[in-house]
Amino acid sequence: MTVVQDLPTPALVVDADAFEHNLAAMAFALPGARCRPHVKAHKTVALAREQAARGHRTFTCATPREMEGMAKAGLGEDLLLANEVVDPDRLRRLAELDARVTIAVDSQATIDAAARAGLDEVVIDVFVGMPRCGCPPDRAGPLAEEAVALLSAPQCPSGRFTVILDPSQLYMQVHESCGHPSELDRVYGTEASYAGTSFLTTDKLDEGFRYGSDLVDIVADATAPGGMGTFGWDDEGVAAASVPIVRNGIFVGYLSSRETAPRIGRQSGGAMRADGWNRIPLIRMTNLNLLPKPGMSLDDIVADTDDGFYLASNRSWSIDDRRLNFQFATEIAYEIKNGKKGRLFKNPTYTGITYEFWRSCDAVGDESSYVMLGTPNCGKGEPGQTGHVGHAVPGARFRDVQVGVGKW
Ligand SMILES: [Zn+2]
Repeated sequence: MTVVQDLPTPALVVDADAFEHNLAAMAFALPGARCRPHVKAHKTVALAREQAARGHRTFTCATPREMEGMAKAGLGEDLLLANEVVDPDRLRRLAELDARVTIAVDSQATIDAAARAGLDEVVIDVFVGMPRCGCPPDRAGPLAEEAVALLSAPQCPSGRFTVILDPSQLYMQVHESCGHPSELDRVYGTEASYAGTSFLTTDKLDEGFRYGSDLVDIVADATAPGGMGTFGWDDEGVAAASVPIVRNGIFVGYLSSRETAPRIGRQSGGAMRADGWNRIPLIRMTNLNLLPKPGMSLDDIVADTDDGFYLASNRSWSIDDRRLNFQFATEIAYEIKNGKKGRLFKNPTYTGITYEFWRSCDAVGDESSYVMLGTPNCGKGEPGQTGHVGHAVPGARFRDVQVGVGKW
């Protein structure tokens, strides 16, 4: 007699009667293509084959690995990956499978990542109230239309233009050109070999350096609701706080720690965080937010612009190790003529010097476009640590920006 302990592990014990009952119920209630069984429920190709034998030819997978298993088992007729994948190598592996692969996406950036890997079928994941993923319901239609239009859109022109940055790009501009240079450990060179240093040296704090125009107010706020950089205490036991970084365009403070803050005669702003128990805390961004300004909505800013481009959806970023000279690409640009969004262009890029760029900011949107975004993969330290940091931003307008760099 075989006892359970003799079975090779991992083993799956299935109640055959219950399984048969469930298979029959699914096949009756949701026959064939109307039901796309989720492989994550059993993670077993043998059971998927039983479902296929009852007429289910389409399957949902939770991970690329599940999808690979299904494809290798000859069950790749029509597979949906329900979770977004953005890593290019994993996407390429999916594109190479002997299977029809459809992947869930929720932004222009993830559509682009899938397309670059060679996947040409996506479904747009819509946010329906469970705070996990998905684009807002009113964005789903326009997102699909933009993706199709980008396929035949002309290349974005180059030259010096007025640009309006959508929050989906502005959050990354804040992250790279304000967040990182205001980390006080970088200023003192302790991250020089990997993360880099900072142009915001301490003499600039003393002199009241003009970082941006009067409209630029930036805070590091670990208390902001819903932010990826929100917490109660940092990893040195300092209570979460809101620390001014730029006030009315003037540089006024750093992200700091118990060790670094006394060197500028201050107390820690509570920004020391480690990504796990076996790593030392480093100064990390909390929620580095560009505050909204009452007066103009993002639509008002567009209506107030005679000639320029509206850039949305971050695609790539590059900035030197002192955080001065940057170049960004976005997925999409809309031409603005006489206060209206018009033609759509692909591959927009823009470049600038951090403080010149922020000094050219002449409009910041009000609360109506203020949205909490952020990044779950900010890298720093040796060994490397991954930081979750938030950025609440509205949209904003910048004058005389160099648009169009690189060759296409
Ligand atoms: Zn970062």
